[in-house]
Amino acid sequence: MVIVGLTGGIGSGKTTISKYFESYGIPIYIADKEAKALMNRSKVVRRKLIQLFGQSAYKNGALNREYLATKIFSDKSLLSKMNAIVHPRVASHFKRWLKKQDAPYVIKEAAIIFENDLEYQYDYTITVVTNEDLRIERVMKRDNVSAEKVKSIIRNQLSDNEKIKKSDFVIENNDLETSEKQALEIHQAILKKTLQS
Ligand code: ATP
Repeated sequence: MVIVGLTGGIGSGKTTISKYFESYGIPIYIADKEAKALMNRSKVVRRKLIQLFGQSAYKNGALNREYLATKIFSDKSLLSKMNAIVHPRVASHFKRWLKKQDAPYVIKEAAIIFENDLEYQYDYTITVVTNEDLRIERVMKRDNVSAEKVKSIIRNQLSDNEKIKKSDFVIENNDLETSEKQALEIHQAILKKTLQS
C-alpha cells in the first residue's frame, strides 16, 4: 500500500486539506487524533502515563492534556518519555488500520515527519504551507488562544522552507480555492505514479 505523509506547521490546514483527499475516496489516518484516543483508551498506556506524570495525568477519567502540557513545558525530557510510550503503539495501530484499507493509496496526517527524519516511512510527502499571519489568526480563532502562544509554537517547529525542501509536494492554503485545486492535482499525480509502479 502506498503511504502518503501529510504534514505542515500549526494551523497550516492539514486537517482541512485531508478532507479534500477524503472526498476523493482516500482513507485518512490522523496520527495526533489516534494518539490522543489511545492515551484515553489503552489501560497499559494509562498506567505508564500515570507512572510518568502522576495521578493528575487523568482528570475525571479523561486525559488531562493541560496538565501534561505544563509538565512537558517545564521538563523537556518528559516529552521523549511520553513519546516512547505512545508512538510505538500508534505505529502498530496504524499498521493494523493499513491492512484493512482498500484504496490506491492512504494519507497519514502527522505534524512531525521531517523533524524526526521519519520521511523514510512514506512513499510521498505533502507539506501544507500558509502565511504565518493567517495561521496565527486562524489558530487564535479556532483555539481561543493568544497570538504569543501560537508564535511560540511556530518558533519551536521546523520552518516551512526546510519542510518544502524535503517534500515531494506542497499545497499553499492561503485560500481554499487554490488549496483545493492543488490537492486535486496532487491526487491525480499520485494516482498516476501508483498506477505506473
Ligand atoms: P493543527 O496543526 O493545529 O492541528 P491544522 O494544520 O490541522 O492545525 P486546520 O485545523 O485544518 O489546521 O486549520 C486551522 C484553522 O484554520 C481551522 O479552524 C480551519 O477551519 C481554518 N482554515 C484552514 N484552511 C483555511 C482556509 N484556506 N481559509 C480559511 N480558514 C481556513
